[in-house]
Amino acid sequence: MTSIEPTFVTTAPVLLAEDLSVTFHVRRGVMGKVPLHAVSSIDFEIDKSETLGLVGESGSGKSTTGRVVLRLLEPSGGHVYLNGDEITDLSRRKLRPYRRRMQMIFQDPYSSLDPSVEVWRNVGEPLEVHRGLRGRALADQVAELFDHVGLARHHMHRYPYEFSGGQRQRLAIARAIALNPDLIVCDEAVSALDVSTRNQITNLLEDIQDEFGVSYLFIAHDLGVVRHMSHRVAVMYLGRIVEDGPTARLYDAPAHPYTEALLSAVPIADPLIQRTRERIVLPGDVPDATNPPPGCPFNTRCAYVMDICREVMPEPTPVAGGGMVRCHLHTTGPTLAGGSVLDVERPRTKATKAVSHALR
Ligand code: SF4
Repeated sequence: MTSIEPTFVTTAPVLLAEDLSVTFHVRRGVMGKVPLHAVSSIDFEIDKSETLGLVGESGSGKSTTGRVVLRLLEPSGGHVYLNGDEITDLSRRKLRPYRRRMQMIFQDPYSSLDPSVEVWRNVGEPLEVHRGLRGRALADQVAELFDHVGLARHHMHRYPYEFSGGQRQRLAIARAIALNPDLIVCDEAVSALDVSTRNQITNLLEDIQDEFGVSYLFIAHDLGVVRHMSHRVAVMYLGRIVEDGPTARLYDAPAHPYTEALLSAVPIADPLIQRTRERIVLPGDVPDATNPPPGCPFNTRCAYVMDICREVMPEPTPVAGGGMVRCHLHTTGPTLAGGSVLDVERPRTKATKAVSHALR
């Protein structure tokens, strides 16, 4: 990546999502088409050189969020700003200059690599399309990109199938950084890699951020990787952000019962502590987004559920140490007022089973 394009100078966040929603209309038997609220009124921002981790189970809306902020999906409500410019309703033509400033890395690098052409053509395509580079100039730029991502220049004329999974992800990263973007959405970008390759790729992403100041929306279900990568983390459940905050605060003192449950599955390096931890197994699956439960969307699986949870959607409450949580525990019952949910004794109910690692 070279500094051919100037970087925006602005005090606005690189990415700002305001009250953003995505609704699909899906067929449901005799009912015909019904609305599926994949993302519901979410707000977040990402500053320059910052990584926001986005976590949650399958079906929580993480990938839809990644796609809608890049305008690969159309929002059904709300606003998206890139460096202070609203891009929510821009036509394809007006969106074009912004597209080069936002890139995506997928779990499967084949999604962005054409298997029938040599990899240098794959990596160089954005430079060809957006900058009109050809011939020697294009090959030189691609060679530099290969250097940046740790690939050998003499492999430039190979085909994608000749590379390992980790090397293909390096190719996808090279392609993503070719136009010096402000934002890269990494959608489960390291999930399919073995542990040692995953560490190499996350280190590469960090090095690129340090060098070029790029911002990441880092979507993953592996909370260990997210902790390593992210400055802040947002937790999604059934299309809503239920908690967010600085990484250390969120991992050390989760404020939402769903965050508590997700974190209980993350192994701790210290075997003595690990042996005494309880893993919280949530009952059932994420509810059907075409028919979400009334009140708090987590009320069908939450061990702390109260009457109010089945009727009233919780509003955001500030959390001690930074961020916010949407949970009635902070205003009703134990009235945590932004404290950690770990400070409340966890009820043992039929609905929620806690499994002690010590008993395994
Ligand atoms: Fe659980 Fe109620 Fe909090 Fe929802 S609002 S997470 S159901 S305690």
